[in-house]
Amino acid sequence: MNGEVFKTLCAETAAQGARLVAVSKTKPVADILELYHAGQRVFGENKVQEMADKQQLLPADIEWHFIGHLQTNKVKQLAAFVSLIHSVDSLKLLEEINKQAQKNNRVIDCLLQIFIADEVTKFGFHEDELQDLLHSNAFRELKNIRICGLMGMATNTNDTVKIENEFIALHTLFNKLRETEFKQQPAFCELSMGMSSDYKIALRHGATLIRIGSMLFGQRDSVNLL
Ligand SMILES: *Cc1c(COP(=O)(O)O)cnc(C)c1O
Repeated sequence: MNGEVFKTLCAETAAQGARLVAVSKTKPVADILELYHAGQRVFGENKVQEMADKQQLLPADIEWHFIGHLQTNKVKQLAAFVSLIHSVDSLKLLEEINKQAQKNNRVIDCLLQIFIADEVTKFGFHEDELQDLLHSNAFRELKNIRICGLMGMATNTNDTVKIENEFIALHTLFNKLRETEFKQQPAFCELSMGMSSDYKIALRHGATLIRIGSMLFGQRDSVNLL
């Protein structure tokens, strides 16, 4: 962990009223603890089993954010403790999160992942699909989930204008939903966008959560839990 980088990131996010999600995927618990002792409480993981294992080993006041593609059959493994799921990309997944939240007697906070990149490898709703979801009866019946905002991943490119335009599009959609579908819902306030390579652009365009991995923890190789 690079202490100076951490301090700078904290200052940059605080200046925009945003929060830092430290993406600790593939990194050992010792690395997470080091950042925890420096004051970080929000950590992001993209594999269910890995997050559940780490949650068992680490302090209880860590907020665990799930940021990866989530399969419905794995939701029950994180339903008891997850703080925020950034990557909800289907009604079927929302229904399963709702069901597992109910079993755990809680409400699970979720972000809807929006497809903004021009890469087929990325997941997320297109805007028209999102409208269908929000207007469906099935969605309205879900009482144990709370939609707290949107998440998106920009195209993996050096073209900063392209990245900027994708973030602007997501911010615009976020603002539009805040004025319409979610007008009466102050909890709809999070915009998760920006990673190590593009977080500065994201912060300029309204990100409230930035997801930073390699810049904090160094490059990733293989999974190394202990
Ligand atoms: C890995 C990951 C990140 C962090 O990426 P870095 O480039 O290491 O900062 C952010 N968001 C998601 C969804 C990820 O999977």
